[in-house]
Amino acid sequence: MHHFTYRDGALYAEDVPLAEIAASVGTPFYCYSSATLERHYTVFAGAFRGQKAQIFFSVKSNSNLAVLATIARLGAGADVVSEGELRRALAAGIPAERIVFSGVGKKAHELAFALEAGIHQFNVESEPELELLSALASARGLEAAVALRINPDVDALTHAKIATGKAENKFGISWKRAPAVYALARDLPGIQAVGVDVHIGSQLTSLAPFEEAFRRVATMVERLRAEGHAISRIDLGGGLGIPYRGDNDVPPHPDEYAAMVRRAIGHLDCEVSLEPGRFIAGNAGVLVASVIYEKQGDDRRFLIVDAAMNDLIRPTLYEAYHHILPVAEPGAASGELRYDVVGPVCETGDYLAKDRPLPPLHSGDLIAIMSAGAYGAVQASGYNTRPLVPEVLVHGHEWAVIRERPSYDDILALDKIPGWLTPS
Ligand SMILES: *Cc1c(COP(=O)(O)O)cnc(C)c1O
Repeated sequence: MHHFTYRDGALYAEDVPLAEIAASVGTPFYCYSSATLERHYTVFAGAFRGQKAQIFFSVKSNSNLAVLATIARLGAGADVVSEGELRRALAAGIPAERIVFSGVGKKAHELAFALEAGIHQFNVESEPELELLSALASARGLEAAVALRINPDVDALTHAKIATGKAENKFGISWKRAPAVYALARDLPGIQAVGVDVHIGSQLTSLAPFEEAFRRVATMVERLRAEGHAISRIDLGGGLGIPYRGDNDVPPHPDEYAAMVRRAIGHLDCEVSLEPGRFIAGNAGVLVASVIYEKQGDDRRFLIVDAAMNDLIRPTLYEAYHHILPVAEPGAASGELRYDVVGPVCETGDYLAKDRPLPPLHSGDLIAIMSAGAYGAVQASGYNTRPLVPEVLVHGHEWAVIRERPSYDDILALDKIPGWLTPS
């Protein structure tokens, strides 16, 4: 459910017409709905009411400070994967004790920064990382609360590029090695191995792979406890999918997900950590673009728009489907044409949709690329020296630019021409 709907023939974000924002900000731009972010967070958190659970929003899905601040006010914590994201979470008002640090390649300065900030938990993914964290923590007279991320070797049944829980993926500590790594952790100074962590992938649309992984985690916790480890926390990662295609492919509701969690690990009486990203932010954002040209090819019609793969890489990177809506609601009699919706970037992979039925569109018309709130703006690049897309947050009748479009001067000023190339 989201708050992007037609009213009187125009697409609105909450109570603001998208065309009004476009007239002021220019296109392309991302637009997020506060009410949708809040609703998704509340539905997810509500599903876990009555379980000892804390929600850590996956900052990598959408890291804008205003987005983080919106859900921080509802009590959300943050799951971060870099020092940069950790600094964002803190700057948005999320207290360190509600932050967990995940990621396969944390550097010493990042671990040190997180230790000094006093975060809730480090999700450690290898023995060398554990040893480095131990050295850094004990040098500071600190104890780091650690969960080891275990690779449960299950198939998440999602796109290969967002499956993370198979043995061949780089993530986590192998299932077989885990007990030995917990034994190592017990002997290391500055480390309290209090939990088990798992994250098997993203955009999962069925419960079965989650349940298989979580049952394996439960087995591991029982075994570790039998070996004398005081395991009191289980971090289940993120990954719950969203309906990109509308009502035809509806993933499990958070209530069903939470009931499955209770079934799989409830008997262990652990504190449960959850790291949803896409579920909170995905349908809370759209990318608004303008049609530049319509072009007739030999066997297809191209709609060339001013948003491109550098602004939203999901279609080309993950073969992802994003629904597209004209910002001016088409009349019942308008009919449909099939378009390849493409951007201006000089790559054949630069497309947003292929063979998509849409009402006839013309130069200057606005379109909204739906479900772009997660893994959209955060993955944008400046390829082809295209300015990073601005971001806008709507809140009822109000809206604000929460990240500005950089000027060309800003962009060029990042480069430096060395002395030997400057004429004297
Ligand atoms: C990406 C990621 C998440 C969030 O995944 P979603 O599919 O957006 O819910 C959670 N935890 C970890 C460790 C991740 O890498």
